[in-house]
Amino acid sequence: MSFDLLPATRRAAMTVAGWWRDETLLDHFRRHRAATPDKLALVATRTEAGGSTRLTYAELDALSDRLAVGLMRHGVGEGDVVSFQLPNWWQFTALHLACLKLGAISNPLMVIFRERELSFMLGLAETKVFVVPAKFRNVDHAALAAAVRPSLPRLAHVAVVDGAGAEAFDALLVADITPAERVALAANRLVPDAVIELLYTSGTTGEPKGVTHTSNTMLSNLVPFAERLHLGAADVVHMPSPMAHQLGFMYGLVLPLMLGATAVLQDIFVAETMARQITGEGATFTMGATPFLNDLADYCLATGTRTPSLKVFVSAGAPIPRPLVAKAREALGAAIISAWGMSENGAVTTARIEDPEEKVTGTDGCPLPGMDVRVVDLSGQPVPAGEEGMLQVRGCSNFIGYLKRPGLAQVDRDGWFDTGDIARMDADGYIRIAGRSKDIIIRGGENIPVVEVENLLFKHPAVSAVAIVGYPDARLGERACAFVIPRAGQNLSFEEMVDYLKAQKMAMQYIPERLEVVDVLPQTPSGKIQKFRLREMARNAMSA
Ligand code: ADP
Repeated sequence: MSFDLLPATRRAAMTVAGWWRDETLLDHFRRHRAATPDKLALVATRTEAGGSTRLTYAELDALSDRLAVGLMRHGVGEGDVVSFQLPNWWQFTALHLACLKLGAISNPLMVIFRERELSFMLGLAETKVFVVPAKFRNVDHAALAAAVRPSLPRLAHVAVVDGAGAEAFDALLVADITPAERVALAANRLVPDAVIELLYTSGTTGEPKGVTHTSNTMLSNLVPFAERLHLGAADVVHMPSPMAHQLGFMYGLVLPLMLGATAVLQDIFVAETMARQITGEGATFTMGATPFLNDLADYCLATGTRTPSLKVFVSAGAPIPRPLVAKAREALGAAIISAWGMSENGAVTTARIEDPEEKVTGTDGCPLPGMDVRVVDLSGQPVPAGEEGMLQVRGCSNFIGYLKRPGLAQVDRDGWFDTGDIARMDADGYIRIAGRSKDIIIRGGENIPVVEVENLLFKHPAVSAVAIVGYPDARLGERACAFVIPRAGQNLSFEEMVDYLKAQKMAMQYIPERLEVVDVLPQTPSGKIQKFRLREMARNAMSA
């Protein structure tokens, strides 16, 4: 595979500047495993089944060796994709380590995905092994995997956590590693520029895009991120966000193992559980989109719960209202730091804990070392400080391209990547996100692929035209509203719309929560639907 954004010139520049150090997570992990084998690496709780798993660095190493050999026996090797649709369970972390040990590519998938998303994503990735839970939140994932399997000729094996027989996840955890397999495993050398992660991001173009990262792009973000927030081996990292999102993956899985710290994973978000885990495990750092911060703060304020160990909560992935920062700081007694980033490049900007008040509460931070950020007008010229424009980034942690979609990344000759976000930058280089030019809706940190849902709804026999926009929601930030023009003599009820979209076997979270049936959609003279007008209409209809 070749990728647009890994040319030799970029590699040379990043290496000379010292951002790409040619290290991998395995290098860090093995160092910690040697120095502190008995240190707690991971605590993972199973909300529904009950119980929790605690693994030391040595135990996690041994388990991931066994898994690597199990995967090897199903033909997984360098460059092969292993997809895992798992909650934040210990198996998730162990699988990533196992993939690294084989030079294979980890492809985390959100548990909300259904047949529609899964068959596309596994098909494009040519997944070799697919790992799912038997059941999670009343969904039979083993049945889902069985349903998509016939359309995936490259899929060699499905492994089911809590499953039985040959498909059981436990069967992948081989107990009888042969000397030859040990030699084969030890002989693998992970290349720092090899793709290690494939993460689908909701398509603004109608289909999901597979973001690819290497050890160099990922660690060149995590090292400066940890330095800026003063994180080290003594920290306990709590992760309530799904590790199948880049935020959870980078800061809940990779970061703690890179630091030699302890990760505390939460599989189902409930504020009370999060508070209990933070206090019980002495978590010092956590990160999540605004609903996590809001609910945790409300819970602590309402119950008088204190979280004294917590030093920093980084809020990212969706706009962060200023009043929330103040409320959360009071409730949690921790620094509340806003960050801006994307699956494509990790947290690019964050405030510093030492920054003056107006920067911490009023901005999404300034770039981490190794990243350049600028705000430009439509002609690509930087706009004056304080003015709105299109946010562009380039640098060490930018991804290397979309899987099998050369040319899709909006990158200019000088390497500037167009983020699709609208921002302002102040004279000190701190940015604040002001909106989006790309067509997504962020519902509680989950990006809804607007174009894809519109395309599906458009196929409904009663629908003549459709446009979907976001409307404000106090807890989730945004929810989706569909505007539909019915065909002559036809109608579409909200229930009919929901049933129809459900039957398309798409993620439930993508289904609009309101429907407005209209006669016309506002258009520009050139026939483009004016979504800003629709957003206004959706907002007004709400307050009416
Ligand atoms: P993640 O996996 O971190 O959620 P995505 O790639 O799914 O990343 O979403 C990235 C998008 O989320 C950004 O392009 C932006 O629109 C939005 N976003 C991220 N951080 C912020 C922020 N601090 N304020 C406003 N929007 C944000």
